[in-house]
Amino acid sequence: MSLAPDTPRTLTLAGSADIERAVADLTLQLPQPLAPLARIAYDYMWSWMPGGDDVFRHLDPQRWEMVNANPVRLIHEMKQSELERAAKDTELIAGATALLQRIDADHSRPQLDCSASPERPVAFFCAEFAVHRSLPIYAGGLGVLAGDILKEASDMALPLVGVSLLYRQGYFLQRLDESGYQHEYWVTVDPDRIPATLVHNEKGEPLTVNVPIRDRDIVVQIWRIDVGRVPLYLLDADREENSPIDRWTTSRLYVGDRTSRLAQYALLGIGSMRALAAMGMDPSIVHINEGHAGLAPLELARREMAAGMDRHEAFAAARDRVVFTTHTPVGAGNEGYEVSAVAEVLGSYPEQVGLDVDQLVQLGRTHPDNPHEHFVMTPLGIKMSRFANAVSRRHGEIARQMWQPLFPERPVDTVPIDHITNGVHIPTWMAPPMRSLLDRYLGEGWIHRASDPATWAAVDSIPDAELWQVRNELRRDFAGFARERTVANRLARSNSRELVEAAEHGFNAESLTLGFARRLATYKRLYMLTMEPSRITDLLNNDEAPFQLVLAGKAHPQDEEGKHSPQGIFGYQGSERAASRISFLDNYDLEIGRQMVAGCDVWINLPRPPLEASGTSGMKSALNGGLNLSTLDGWWAEAFNGRNGWGLDGDILFDPAVQDTRDAAAFYDCLQHEVLPLFYKRDFDGVPHEWVARIKESLKTNGPRFSATRMVENYVDRAYDLREHARI
Ligand SMILES: *Cc1c(COP(=O)(O)O)cnc(C)c1O
Repeated sequence: MSLAPDTPRTLTLAGSADIERAVADLTLQLPQPLAPLARIAYDYMWSWMPGGDDVFRHLDPQRWEMVNANPVRLIHEMKQSELERAAKDTELIAGATALLQRIDADHSRPQLDCSASPERPVAFFCAEFAVHRSLPIYAGGLGVLAGDILKEASDMALPLVGVSLLYRQGYFLQRLDESGYQHEYWVTVDPDRIPATLVHNEKGEPLTVNVPIRDRDIVVQIWRIDVGRVPLYLLDADREENSPIDRWTTSRLYVGDRTSRLAQYALLGIGSMRALAAMGMDPSIVHINEGHAGLAPLELARREMAAGMDRHEAFAAARDRVVFTTHTPVGAGNEGYEVSAVAEVLGSYPEQVGLDVDQLVQLGRTHPDNPHEHFVMTPLGIKMSRFANAVSRRHGEIARQMWQPLFPERPVDTVPIDHITNGVHIPTWMAPPMRSLLDRYLGEGWIHRASDPATWAAVDSIPDAELWQVRNELRRDFAGFARERTVANRLARSNSRELVEAAEHGFNAESLTLGFARRLATYKRLYMLTMEPSRITDLLNNDEAPFQLVLAGKAHPQDEEGKHSPQGIFGYQGSERAASRISFLDNYDLEIGRQMVAGCDVWINLPRPPLEASGTSGMKSALNGGLNLSTLDGWWAEAFNGRNGWGLDGDILFDPAVQDTRDAAAFYDCLQHEVLPLFYKRDFDGVPHEWVARIKESLKTNGPRFSATRMVENYVDRAYDLREHARI
């Protein structure tokens, strides 16, 4: 089925009437000329439309930052008198009206020509989604990828829905103390002040489903948030019928004890299927993005059995609809549960799919008969899917080795785990100055042709000076951001006045700017940056070639080693030069990420090979003309061509300490002898032409290959199998 272009966009999906009501309510807060803002506020498409952010920022720039760019809260919190004043601003009204027109036009495009439809969508399940900084239901890379997939699906008009949990307290917020040690705190989200609305049934009551956990029914309600054409449905156990413990199930992302997490994942896997059914959707594909939602195929099978199939047929039918993506070769990402934990959390649920608890646990084991093996979602996902994939070429190789024991009769090369390399959503991650530059040179509508290398060939026609100008602008803006944040962070850490002033006068617009931002997991090797103290000091003292370094990242609250890891860098604060040029920013999030990938000249990533499944922040940097200096692991192992950045050996040494020493030396050699000299090698016109040549090479090679457009096209063609031609 394809939508007629004039189908009212909102009436086809569950919760549409609820969104309409929320928009109508918010409209009541607004003077009539500002009415378009209410509708814009309830659809995150504004956030990736050029100029979208400016429309709200313009209303009240300070408050816009205070409410973390949340348009619903902004409108609720602005004074009536301020709104009245804004209602007289003809430029603002014209901007808002034009923005809403663009959004409406986007919604009335016909859907992608494929077999999925609003009633039979692709259902994309993930424990976290990073859609926007105002919606704190994400921790890091997995969520950013999932958010980018929703946005890209919207851009491609692919009928897809996202499903996850509404964590009332989100992920933790981070504060580093004076020593650089991480502290965590949580802030409760008020769902009435984000662009979310409860889905109601025809009686006008919140639609709920029951999910059996610990042999009790947890009652779950469903929120809807619009990410362009794609609705994101979020399950929420915070209802009066539930006990405090059950209500807590959807409280925090990735924390709590093991069985609480398993309960959360059961809610996600089983509850999501039930929620979709209650909303009248029968997904053509269920895409399980990382293991957390791994129980979903069992619920699919249970339904088939309830409708009369025998277990064997039901499992085959379920498998035929499931796609599974594994995202990590690291142990902690493949969490295991004892049989007793599974038995406790799932209660009598396994019987409903015709299994006893031991048989169910066997599905989550690599060697089913080994009683000591835990239950892990990844083997379950691989066994219960028709298509499984890793997220980069190298990760594919590693995953096939890692899970080969699941297929004892197959050689490693033929283990049925494919790879679809991650990509990033260009309209989200490309900063406005770069976007307008490419809009001028790559031709009308280039962004819709972003996966075609030919689109990017015109990068060669951009005059070096113009590209360099954009880099200077981005670096200057970022230096301002780093300065402001560093001052605020240092004041909050009770640092000395000298240290605060060093930041206030530090970070300049011209120095080579290095960025390092990622989860503070040990394998990301933040400590390598401080393994050669004398070389750091020498480089800091070289006034011919100054550099500045900005870092950010969160450690899991239970990872003590990770929580201490920023202390290595904090050790340099005693040096005056370091204090004004090196900064670790608190609370890495989408906003810090956006600023960093736009402003940094060089993006550093030093994972211990082969543990970086993909990595995506380097792709974002590349889109903005940043150059990657990275270990040849994850995506960079397939992206680096010798001319589009710098690559450090990605081979695996037997002794990690030897590897670290060698890799740290290689990193500093590259920085000192290649990166710094090239950046400061200027022609008479002040432009570093060889540096710019690298940027162009990076844009041309990385732009098409690591866009979310290419990634989602791959999923549609190879994993979802929805196009007519794919099925012939
Ligand atoms: C892109 C992004 C990530 C993932 O980056 P990696 O390269 O995978 O470490 C994590 N957090 C934020 C805020 C991001 O924007």
